[in-house]
Amino acid sequence: MTSAGLYGAYGGRYVPETLVPALDELDSGWRAARADASFQAELDELGRTFAGRPTPLTRAERYASDKRLYLKREDLLHTGAHKLNNALGQAVLARRLSKRRIVAETGAGQHGVATATVCARFGLECVVYMGEEDMRRQRPNVERMNLLGAEVRPVEFGKRTLKEATSEAIRDWITNVETTHYLIGSCVGPSPYPEIVRELQAVIGRESRAQFLQAEGRLPEVVVACVGGGSNAIGIFAGFIDDAGVRLLGVEAADAASLGSGNAAVLHGARSSVLSDADGQITDAHSISAGLDYPGVGPEHAWLRDSGRADYVGATDAEALAAFRDLTRLEGIIPALEPAHALARVRELDEELVLVCLSGRGDKDLAEVLAQ
Ligand SMILES: *Cc1c(COP(=O)(O)O)cnc(C)c1O
Repeated sequence: MTSAGLYGAYGGRYVPETLVPALDELDSGWRAARADASFQAELDELGRTFAGRPTPLTRAERYASDKRLYLKREDLLHTGAHKLNNALGQAVLARRLSKRRIVAETGAGQHGVATATVCARFGLECVVYMGEEDMRRQRPNVERMNLLGAEVRPVEFGKRTLKEATSEAIRDWITNVETTHYLIGSCVGPSPYPEIVRELQAVIGRESRAQFLQAEGRLPEVVVACVGGGSNAIGIFAGFIDDAGVRLLGVEAADAASLGSGNAAVLHGARSSVLSDADGQITDAHSISAGLDYPGVGPEHAWLRDSGRADYVGATDAEALAAFRDLTRLEGIIPALEPAHALARVRELDEELVLVCLSGRGDKDLAEVLAQ
């Protein structure tokens, strides 16, 4: 990556002038924090004592019995998904920047819950924007956020899902930029967000690489993760990106395949691969899992796709539901619908040694699954 926050032709900053000073401040605050050993020490301590790191690596023997399949158990992280790694790190960063108010967007509600959790922990004011449709699909997470003291603001325009919630959060940030940190939930948005989120999620890759070596005495042949905005995938990929022999495979929702069927375009402050029509209009994504229901993706993934370092495929709602049911019955683990997309592609892989990022647990999805 260059200093301008570019990943090949992707990334950058496509924002109104009013946000440039805030992004510059965030960028220099982030670089100062990274250079400060006490920042990493604080994150390590919070990870261990508050979040439950390291998360285990579990051998799944029955789900794909002809493989040596391992699951990185981010579902066991506090609040039930990998999102807390990012929320904790950005909250510590916001405190260093003396911002006492946090705004966030949420789709599945997992990022909203993670953000409300860290705001409760640090005594920060918290406003979470969420599409009305997602509030309906993810009711328990809305109730959790309220209990944690966050204000959940319904977004009632467009498809009433993550894209619109993100636009509203950015609008709030523009209005309140002096006091407010925008705690973005994935490796998307203007520079330096994609880099910050990737580095905060890279703990998944560091841990799982060491754990896999410990278990098998060698590296996996393929690392598989679901891709919504792309943060759990970029976090686990980060541990293996320099290992040329390890294939990286991202799985998108088939009808939200920003990488599989998108075009280069600007969405929410950065250039990436975006679902759009022939006129360049952003088109709507669809997925049964709210966390994948987004027409954009982090710019680094677009670059990894173009360079050939990572491959991206799709899984349908029906395939994800089947994988959800199978993992539950065969392994005693109820996955979130998002990583069920990654699991849906595992059995047909040519490779035998497989590592999957189990990005979150499925409790939040029970109503949706039972309604099918
Ligand atoms: C939010 C979410 C995702 C999708 O987000 P990424 O940034 O692509 O990781 C995937 N899995 C779970 C459990 C989530 O909550």
